Amino acid sequence: MEEEIKKGGISVQTEHIFPIIKKWLYSDKDIFLREIVSNACDAVTKLRRLSSLGQVSEIDGNYRITVKADKEEKTITVSDNGIGMTEEELDKYLCSIALSGALDFIQKYEGEDAGSNGIIGHFGLGFYSAFMVSERVTVVTRSYTGAPAVRWECSEAGDYTLSTAEKDGRGTDVILHIAEGEEEYLEDARLRSILEQYCSFMPVEIYYEGEKAPETEKKEDGEAAEETPKPINDTHPLWMKNPSDCTEEEYLAFYRKVFHDYREPLFHIHINADYPLNFKGILYFPKITNEYESLEGQVKLYYNQVFVADNIKEVIPEFLLMLRGVIDCPELPLNVSRSYLQNSGYVAKMSQHIVKKVADKLNALFTNERENYEKLWPDIKIFVEYGSLREKKFYDRVKGSVIYPLTTGRYVTLDEYLEQAKEKHGDTVYYATDKTVQAQYISLLEQEQIPVAYLDKGLDNQFISMIEQDRSVKFFRVDAGVADVLKGEGESYENPALAELFVKVSGNEKLKVSFETLKETTLPVMLTVPEQERRFGEMMKLYGMQGGELPAPEGELVLNAGSPMIRRLAEKLDTDRESAEKAAKYLYGLAVLAQRKLTADELKSFLAGSYGLLDRLI
Ligand code: ADP
Ligand code: MG
Repeated sequence: MEEEIKKGGISVQTEHIFPIIKKWLYSDKDIFLREIVSNACDAVTKLRRLSSLGQVSEIDGNYRITVKADKEEKTITVSDNGIGMTEEELDKYLCSIALSGALDFIQKYEGEDAGSNGIIGHFGLGFYSAFMVSERVTVVTRSYTGAPAVRWECSEAGDYTLSTAEKDGRGTDVILHIAEGEEEYLEDARLRSILEQYCSFMPVEIYYEGEKAPETEKKEDGEAAEETPKPINDTHPLWMKNPSDCTEEEYLAFYRKVFHDYREPLFHIHINADYPLNFKGILYFPKITNEYESLEGQVKLYYNQVFVADNIKEVIPEFLLMLRGVIDCPELPLNVSRSYLQNSGYVAKMSQHIVKKVADKLNALFTNERENYEKLWPDIKIFVEYGSLREKKFYDRVKGSVIYPLTTGRYVTLDEYLEQAKEKHGDTVYYATDKTVQAQYISLLEQEQIPVAYLDKGLDNQFISMIEQDRSVKFFRVDAGVADVLKGEGESYENPALAELFVKVSGNEKLKVSFETLKETTLPVMLTVPEQERRFGEMMKLYGMQGGELPAPEGELVLNAGSPMIRRLAEKLDTDRESAEKAAKYLYGLAVLAQRKLTADELKSFLAGSYGLLDRLI
């Protein structure tokens, strides 16, 4: 009996669609495997559904997908025992693509990087992505209905043949005949890594049969232990479970598996949003070892357990990309273009929901586990600060949970700080950026029971500027001026000759010198640098706006009128100008030393001056 073979060409403008598919998907060829394997998953899911509805009976429930590579034949075969297709179905689903909508869309968004967004997948063209790497695709399929099996073979030009075939059991084999130049896809390591990336959590067991012996797992029934192949995927990923059914160990194991990070994350947030939003996910706060590493998080997006992409900025607010995690959203047509996502109200709501969940978690930790929260703070601080700077809504949610370390090691909120000593310093927060360099200033304030916040990280500058705009509060670095609490009683005292002397010995004509009576009488001189000027300078430096080293902002030298030494120096100036000058120079050196690190030249001259003084003593 002669076999009847039908011939045809893919209908609807085939001559257009094939080159488009090739060109458009070029940037992300790897997705062909995701598309073919996810179709196999869909085929199983459909049959499962029919079975659970009682529409089919006597189905063996051993659903599985197999991916096989044959280097000699140059084929990759994806087999499933899902719903299969009858000849009519095959003709309908694979031969006449419903293209009108897709073509419009393609024309509209031409020029966009559609490949990485999988535009094709969204328009039911996923199957054709196989032609990115294949010169020919064969499909052998048998419907669960028992209709005869069919074989379909299509060339990359879109010409196909359709014939009857022999096939044991229901389901579909998709055989990709890998094109010349694409042989890398036959490599074991390549296939494994693509499968791991895209298929790790698909809902049907996937078995990979590469050139190496398949991975096996020991059965637990003791003696008679027999080796059975192990699927490459986890069909019930943790995010799909109810948070109350998940253990800490499971969260940790999942984190390690997905992110290959041996460190423990700080904590996680399991999101399980239902109506009107519908998505699930787990976000982890990774442990960061330095400030910059933390900026590279990874949030993986899934669509019904099928991996779509990493770090889609349109869905996840940018600052949350510092986190690690997975988000699975079956509602969102993630496979469409980025401009769609940008303008989607749904995406905006989803993104706000995630922000809210993250803020809720931080607030809950702050309220319920303050001690633990304080331990975590050094790690989450940069995240909170960056997030607050990037997104006002986030800041508004978490601002009550922002804490500041004090130089003493304690932590306080802004309100706690202000409450503590409001009679003494009103709405001013004193802070230090370096406990060692600024030790003198810190201890002056601490003597007066003024707590000093410790803000030593890069973002603090910008963060406190934002807080100042949000609330009526001022941040003052300890050396920014003479705090009112440090000032003592006493008549005002001015001595222009002495001021002039200090200008002279400083070698800085522009040095401002003023007199102030300080409570602390043992401190003769103090160098201050105005807050705003200093911050501005630091900002410029941060953005590299000034080439090279920035000149230190003009400081102001405060001479303590309450210091007996300063009074004596004034007298000395009249009687022994030379000694007075030496002493003033030394005092100036000490004032600078107490405020910042000396430059090499300053240090050399300071040491030389010191030896000179010692020489008189000894
Ligand atoms: P989509 O998956 O978005 O529907 P595809 O181009 O990936 O679009 O697939 C087109 C259609 O071909 C599917 O909707 C399905 O009906 C059919 N199909 C593809 N692969 C299989 C398979 N392995 N088993 C059964 N039907 C399949
Ligand atoms: Mg598909």
